[in-house]
Amino acid sequence: RLATAFAAKVWHVETDCLFCKIVAKEIPATIVYETERTLAFRDINPQAPTHVLVIPKGHYRDAAALAAADDGLADEVIKTAHAVAVQEGVHESGYRLVFNTGPGAGQTVFHVHAHVLGGRDLGWPPG
Ligand code: ADP
Repeated sequence: RLATAFAAKVWHVETDCLFCKIVAKEIPATIVYETERTLAFRDINPQAPTHVLVIPKGHYRDAAALAAADDGLADEVIKTAHAVAVQEGVHESGYRLVFNTGPGAGQTVFHVHAHVLGGRDLGWPPG
């Protein structure tokens, strides 16, 4: 008979990481989109009508670490972000993807996340 194989969903989990806890469903979040390796949920303190965070389920501290993962994961995060923009209806009016990378850039949660911002006019340069 055919063997049934289950792909092991293995990724690095960091103890005491807020977003790892959201992935593990230990902390509630409003999840709006999910793929095998990414998760999108609403920001708890929205800065625009659409403000969704997209993360890899595995723990990478910032965009630099995600880029170094070199396995298509950064690509999947950006594809998920665009799918969220389409789902939220902001893809035509325009939306912004932001990776705050490092404390000097305002990163406060060190599990890489793309902010998907849209639904209002977005000024440039950002603050
Ligand atoms: P900043 O806090 O300066 O925006 P980041 O780029 O690291 O820095 O973004 C972290 C984001 O995570 C913030 O927008 C914050 O509102 C959001 N956040 C913090 N805790 C939660 C949570 N429990 N659920 C959803 N979003 C959260």
